[in-house]
Amino acid sequence: MSKSAIVIGAGVIGSSVAWELAKNGYSVTVVDKESGAGQGSTSASSAVIRFNYSTFDSVALAWESYRGWQNWPAHLGIKLDHYAEVVNAGVVMVEVPFMPFEPTEALFKAVGIPYEIWGAAELALGIPGFDTGKYWPPKQITDDEFWDEAKGELTAMYTNDGGYVNDPLLAAQNLAAAAVANGAVMKFRTAVTGIIKNDERVLGVSLSDGSELYADIVINVGGPWSGKINEMAGVGEDFTISVRPMRQEVHHISTPLNLLTGPMIGDMDLGTYMRPSPGGAILLGGTEPECEPLEWVDDLDNVNMVRTQALFESQVMRVARRLPALQMPSSPSGIVGIYDVAADWTPIYDKTNLPGYYVAMGTSGNQFKNAPFVGKLMFKLISEVEAGADHDNNPVEIVGEYTGHKINIGTYSRKRKINENSSGTVMG
Ligand SMILES: Cc1cc2nc3c(=O)[nH]c(=O)nc-3n(C[C@H](O)[C@H](O)[C@H](O)COP(=O)(O)OP(=O)(O)OC[C@H]3O[C@@H](n4cnc5c(N)ncnc54)[C@H](O)[C@@H]3O)c2cc1C
Repeated sequence: MSKSAIVIGAGVIGSSVAWELAKNGYSVTVVDKESGAGQGSTSASSAVIRFNYSTFDSVALAWESYRGWQNWPAHLGIKLDHYAEVVNAGVVMVEVPFMPFEPTEALFKAVGIPYEIWGAAELALGIPGFDTGKYWPPKQITDDEFWDEAKGELTAMYTNDGGYVNDPLLAAQNLAAAAVANGAVMKFRTAVTGIIKNDERVLGVSLSDGSELYADIVINVGGPWSGKINEMAGVGEDFTISVRPMRQEVHHISTPLNLLTGPMIGDMDLGTYMRPSPGGAILLGGTEPECEPLEWVDDLDNVNMVRTQALFESQVMRVARRLPALQMPSSPSGIVGIYDVAADWTPIYDKTNLPGYYVAMGTSGNQFKNAPFVGKLMFKLISEVEAGADHDNNPVEIVGEYTGHKINIGTYSRKRKINENSSGTVMG
């Protein structure tokens, strides 16, 4: 008998989950309060693809997913007019005291990711105009020490693989189209206002139009709203990992054009990341350096979605320290987005103690890249748990289709021990 599922949220992760469930015989309805797929936090994503994570499973998941991006039209298996594209710009991650390379090197070797260690000479050659000085720790531009001379030269880890996806919104739309092609129904401009359940399991959802929708399973993929949706479901008591939304600003600088055409750069030394953007601009944001206050959000309906002068100046000036030819524009562009931050910056892909109710949440500003495979991971988890697997005690595993790596889904458990190796930042 065909099973039915409700997916709450049509972001890049929700659409991937919906697609995988629909492809595997579920009758799927996706509910989203916005007017189309990908219009939540996905549309603000910097869409960077890199592999530096602090656990084997997370490195393997990013590597497996990257193969999906590289084969995107074939991966989706449907004919569309427009596909998102991966821009294989490469990745440079500079070394900082709290993120030494050795553990990452060991993980890259285990997963089979080719990399090089770059010193100042390679950095200067690989990224024209790059200041190779060490300025650690990151400082506010109002701090006199911000202007101090560099103390030594940077070392960095370079991967020729990775880069970014040119259009994150289109990527979500592609996944939603693949879900629809497999029979999923998209219900937009409709909010989930309640979770319906009985003593045994979840039964469905109530909707803002006054109707109710029933299904065998419900998956919360609500992005920054996921915590609120869990409150509606009455789940969360057994979570050891808390989640909380956080406001972020991303800036686009095109003065001068084509200043950065090479790799994406994770510059924890100055507390920023940057990547080339289509059209020759630079897209840049922060990496939660200690000098910058974290902007936790308690009221998601009242977030300042306008970028602030203070953050613009501090983030862009720190990037200008690295790329001295950058000119401060008088009319910058950019975007405000919200991360769904988990306590250890690692997502929660799990069942809950409400049978039939699953979560793909806490994506912590770093899971866009994993959208090609997270749907498969969630389908594997759901099908095993619905068939009786005791995932909390014997975690379900999944084997990557492209890489053959075994990924332990228990790494993403709501009840895991906090990942002590996490950088405590968007890097995961
Ligand atoms: C500024 C920024 C930069 C980022 N950069 C990167 C990056 O470089 N690389 C990377 O890998 N990741 C990055 N990320 C993270 C990545 O974009 C997210 O992890 C990913 O987009 C999350 O997708 P999602 O589908 O889980 O959530 P979302 O895209 O937020 O989708 C959730 C959906 O749920 C809907 N919803 C919520 N509540 C309800 C409700 N009650 N009823 C109906 N619908 C509801 C929303 O409307 C929304 O469409 C970034 C994120 C941000 C914000």
